[in-house]
Amino acid sequence: MKKLFLSLLVFFFLSDVLVAWGFFAHRRINRLAVYSLPPEMLGLFKENIQFITENAVNPDRRRYAVMGEAEKHYIDLEAFGDSAAYRLPRYWQDAVDLYTEDTLRRYGIGPWNVHRTTIQLTKAFEEKNKKSILRLAADLGHYIGDLNVPLHTTRNYNGQLTGQVGIHAFWESRVPELLSDDFDFFVGKASYIDNTQLAIWEAVIQAHTALDSVLNVEKILSDRFEADKKYSFEERGNINTRVYSKEFTTAYHQALDAQVERQMRKSVKMIADFWYTAWINAGQPDLKELQRKPMEVDTEEIHVGPKPQNIREHEGYLVQPDPDPRRAFISSMWRP
Ligand SMILES: [Zn+2]
Repeated sequence: MKKLFLSLLVFFFLSDVLVAWGFFAHRRINRLAVYSLPPEMLGLFKENIQFITENAVNPDRRRYAVMGEAEKHYIDLEAFGDSAAYRLPRYWQDAVDLYTEDTLRRYGIGPWNVHRTTIQLTKAFEEKNKKSILRLAADLGHYIGDLNVPLHTTRNYNGQLTGQVGIHAFWESRVPELLSDDFDFFVGKASYIDNTQLAIWEAVIQAHTALDSVLNVEKILSDRFEADKKYSFEERGNINTRVYSKEFTTAYHQALDAQVERQMRKSVKMIADFWYTAWINAGQPDLKELQRKPMEVDTEEIHVGPKPQNIREHEGYLVQPDPDPRRAFISSMWRP
């Protein structure tokens, strides 16, 4: 018991140290989405922009402790056969009837979970529950962001089936971290979405269509770059870590014609649209009165149960398994 407590302590300590870079993109996306909201929502969200930003990474933290969380972040479309993105039932119950809940959970429930979280957020708006509004808005931002990442729509989520291990963190963390200061994030005002369930599926289809180039471009460039040009070393939490070089990262971004930037921008707009739609569907409650209301900002309690089985193991910046057990442990704590 004492050992478990200790390892959890180490876990949370390390994850706090390490998320400082790993979840950069989620934080930035949630934060930017706030600025697209209409004045009626902007007050509350801007007042709590720090909360929305910091809690953008909660769902990823939960994956290690909460049963049923991990599969909310992705969908392995290949598991459902050809053109699955077009054929899969858009509504949860239809999908369960066709495949069983167990099967769906095995291969990921991302799109259906976005719908569920949207409904929960709508309810929180109806009830004018400040804490739930902010927490669910932050969660929803995370889930929408994930599904706009092509590698969250495939079984080959870390290039492990194509000899490209490390590509997950490269695409969704390294590229944004190095280059997103120069991205154009102007997305305009949030707009109402008639059918959020269909909208998230459209995003999944589009993300999955982009998957080929995510993988192919990395392959082509890898053939062109010498290993010592492809990688460089950086200090990460006092550890000298092999990372994709700046040169390779920039070349990848250009060869992909700014795909990462487009997907990030799309996430920002979509998140604002979903928040706005939930608020409209809740009857446009007056949020100004919530602004003055105090909120105990506690950090989310994570109850530890049996270890979830389907956490996606994809290393962060470490692009090869580390022989040093301590470093391996730390890198395994960091998964975007
Ligand atoms: Zn996630």
